[in-house]
Amino acid sequence: MKDTHKHQGLRKQLATVLEAKGITDQKVLEAVRKIPRHLFIDSSFEAHAYQDKAFPIAAEQTISQPYTVAFQSQTLEVKTDDKVLEIGTGSGYQTAVLLEMGAEVYSIERQHELFKKTSLFLPKLGYRAKKLIFGDGYKGLPEIAPFDKIIVTAGAPFVPKPLLSQLKVGGKLLIPVGDHTQIMTLFIRKSAKEFEKHELGDFAFVPMLEEKN
Ligand code: SAH
Repeated sequence: MKDTHKHQGLRKQLATVLEAKGITDQKVLEAVRKIPRHLFIDSSFEAHAYQDKAFPIAAEQTISQPYTVAFQSQTLEVKTDDKVLEIGTGSGYQTAVLLEMGAEVYSIERQHELFKKTSLFLPKLGYRAKKLIFGDGYKGLPEIAPFDKIIVTAGAPFVPKPLLSQLKVGGKLLIPVGDHTQIMTLFIRKSAKEFEKHELGDFAFVPMLEEKN
């Protein structure tokens, strides 16, 4: 678990690349400069850790592209002490970004291998989520709801109703919707029954899967 000056330099460059692509939120850019992304991926890919690319992690899943993580984090306008639910913990990199932004994070992962691995790994770097949960993100987390923000980091074939209903009024759900490619979709809860919807462009994610039997 080494983090060198070289890694730090590569992270600064990555933050500059993300800025050039339109990321302006200083809290997001600071998180990218700080979090040792090379430690979140298989060491055989270490040389590529600071390119703006997605990479394979365990259980046939991927660590999202840095731009995607930055775009989702910026779009959610995460504020200190926001209660945030993440669906798809994966490597924990997005979780770490949310924690650096000052959020209280609850994160759900349905692959047990990844859940175990990331639960052990994040605290080693000093990242403490409120709770990492092994379970099905389609259900959200009714016992902890309502949330200020909900972020889905897998491609959802449809918008799960429980996620909309677990938002505070004024809260935001950011979810990539679609089968092969996804449209990044932002829902803002205006009242108990009203949601404003914004479509924010095309992205590609691994699929959000139904619970295993
Ligand atoms: N945020 C992660 C992205 C990982 S890819 C990162 O930064 O590394 C998406 C993750 O969503 C995968 O780990 C996948 O196992 C998980 N996933 C897919 N369907 C899910 C579901 N229904 N509930 C919870 N997690 C799910």
